[in-house]
Amino acid sequence: MKASQFFISTLKEAPADAEIVSHKLMMRAGLIKKLGAGLYNYMPMGLRTIRKVENIIREELNNAGCVELTMPVVQPAELWVETGRFEKMGEEMLRFKDRHGRDFVIQPTAEEVITDIARQELRSYRQLPKNFYQIQTKFRDERRPRFGIMRGREFTMKDAYSFDRDVESAGKTYDGMYAAYTRIFERLGLQFRAVAADTGAIGGDRSHEFQVIADTGEDAIVYCPTSDYAANIELAEAVALIAQRGAASQAMEKVATPGKSTCADVAELLGLPLSQTVKSLVLATDETNEQGEIVQSTVWLLLVRGDHDLNEVKAGKIQLADGTGLKAGFRFATESEIVAHFGTKPGYLGPIGLQKPVKVVADRTVANMADWVCGANEEGFHIRGVNWGRDLPEPDLVADIRNVVEGDPSPDGKGVLAIQRGIEVGHVFYLGTKYSKAMNATFLDVDGKPKHFEMGCYGIGVTRILGAAIEQKHDERGIVWPDAIAPFTVVICPVGYDRSEAVKAAADELHSQLLAQGVDVILDDRGERPGAMFADWELIGVPHRVVFGDKGLKEGVAEVQGRQDAEAAKVAVADVFNHVM
Ligand code: ATP
Ligand code: MG
Ligand code: MG
Ligand code: MG
Repeated sequence: MKASQFFISTLKEAPADAEIVSHKLMMRAGLIKKLGAGLYNYMPMGLRTIRKVENIIREELNNAGCVELTMPVVQPAELWVETGRFEKMGEEMLRFKDRHGRDFVIQPTAEEVITDIARQELRSYRQLPKNFYQIQTKFRDERRPRFGIMRGREFTMKDAYSFDRDVESAGKTYDGMYAAYTRIFERLGLQFRAVAADTGAIGGDRSHEFQVIADTGEDAIVYCPTSDYAANIELAEAVALIAQRGAASQAMEKVATPGKSTCADVAELLGLPLSQTVKSLVLATDETNEQGEIVQSTVWLLLVRGDHDLNEVKAGKIQLADGTGLKAGFRFATESEIVAHFGTKPGYLGPIGLQKPVKVVADRTVANMADWVCGANEEGFHIRGVNWGRDLPEPDLVADIRNVVEGDPSPDGKGVLAIQRGIEVGHVFYLGTKYSKAMNATFLDVDGKPKHFEMGCYGIGVTRILGAAIEQKHDERGIVWPDAIAPFTVVICPVGYDRSEAVKAAADELHSQLLAQGVDVILDDRGERPGAMFADWELIGVPHRVVFGDKGLKEGVAEVQGRQDAEAAKVAVADVFNHVM
C-alpha cells in the first residue's frame, strides 16, 4: 500500500468533546470520525484494525467449533414480546414502526432471534451442541454515549449463542468459550483479566467479564495477585466496603453530589437500571454507640419515586404516594418490609475482610421482580458487577475502596486483595433455559421427549476493543498498537522519495518484498518532511518504521525503529526484512 493511494487524515488537536486519551488519539489519528452522538464513521485507518480484531475473533471461534451466521439488524418486535423484553429493555432499545404500523427494533443483542432459529432448526439432540455467532452492528440508545466508540450507540459486537442438551454439556460449552476468549485477548496483545460478574436472575457463578486493564476503565475489579480470584465490584459493594469501615455517610455524600441529586441523576451516576415509577437505590447507614463508635453499618434499599429530588427525600419532605412503594416518607426499608414487598429476603454481602456481614439489597427495578437480585451470598464471596458509577468523583471513591480492601485477605485464602480499573470488552454468560422456556424452544432428546435447550450467550465489543487497547497502550506521541491489530505492521519512510533514485529504489524494493511475504506494509510516498512524516506514524501507532535516506544508503543501511524503541538501529538493507519480522 502506498500512502498516497490510502487515506490518511491526522489532526494536531483533538476535538473538545474527547475526554479520554483513546478517544482523543482515535480522532487525531483519523481512525474514526464523528457523525452524531455515539455515532462514528469507521475511517479506512480504523477499519483496518477493526477487521484484524474481527479476524482474530473469527479464527478462534471457528477453531472452538462455533459457526458464523448473520442476523438482520432490524428485528420484528413480536419475538421480543414473547420473552417480555419488549417492555423490559426500556429506552436503551431503539424501536420503530414500518409503513404498515408494525413494531420493529434495531438489535441491541439477539437472544430472541437466535432462539427463534434454534426452535425451528435444531430438532434433535443429534444436532447438539451448536454455537452460532455473528459479528454484527448493534444499536443501544445509551443514556450517555461517550468515549468515542468505547461507549457508542451504534457499535460492532461479536455475539455468540450456544444450545446444549443438558446442564453438564452447557457447562463444557461455557468453559470452551472462556478458553477461546482467553486465547482471543492473548492474541490481541492486551493485558486483561477475566472477572466474576453479575448473574442476575439466573444465579450461579457462570458469568465472567473480560476486562482490559486500564486506569480510565469504568469498572473496578478486586483481585488477588497471587491467585486467580478476580471479581467486578459495583457501587453497592463499594459503599458497603466503605461503610463497614465506618464511612457510610461519607460515601453517601459522594453519591449525592450537589446538582446531581434527583433519583434519576443518582441512578445514572450509579449506572443502575431503574423503573419508570418506583426507583430503588442502595444507601448506607452507620449506627453509633454512645461513645460515637460505629457499631453497625448497614446498606439498605431505598424506595423513592423517580421524580423526587434526593435532597428533599433526605430531608423527609416527600411522601411516597404511589401505593407500590413504602408508604412512609424517606427512611430506610426494614428487612421485613422488603420481604413483604418483594417476597424475597435481602442478601448479605460476603465479608471481604468484614467483621460483620453488611446487609445489601440490590439495585434492580422494583417494577420487574423477575430480575431481582439479592446481595452477594454469604460464604461464596461472589460479587455482582454492574457498571462503576459514572461521573462519580471516581478517583476518590476508588482510593477509598483501595484503602478498604487492599491488603485484606482474599476470599480464596491464597493471598491479599488488590484493586484495579478495567474496561469490559467481553462477557460470557450461562443463560440456562431462560429464553428457551420463554419462547418454547425444544428439541427431541434421546428418550423421544421434547426438552428445553440449555443456552449461553457470549459477547465481545469489537469496536470497544480499539478504545480499550489504546487506553492501555499509548505514550505522549500517540498510539502504541500491538502488532496483531495495528492498521499497518510496518511503515517505510523514505526521506527524499521524489528526488533520490537510490532512496526510491530501496523503498520500493523493500515494499514489494514485504508485500510478497504477506506483511501489512505502507510506504509513505506523500513527500512530507521527515519530522511531520514520523509524527504521523507515531500518532497512528505503526509498530515498525524503516527509514531510508541517501546518507544511510551510502553505507548500505536503513534505520529501523520499533514504536517503543528509544533509538533507531542501523540495519543492513538486506537484513531489514528479518529485523522487522
Ligand atoms: P456495559 O456494562 O459497558 O454497558 P454491557 O454489559 O451492557 O456493557 P453486554 O450486553 O455484555 O454489554 O455486551 C457485550 C459486549 O459489548 C460488552 O462486553 C462490551 O464490550 C460491548 N458493548 C456493550 N455496550 C457497548 C457500547 N455502548 N459501545 C461499544 N461496545 C459496547
Ligand atoms: Mg450496557
Ligand atoms: Mg456490563
Ligand atoms: Mg456485559
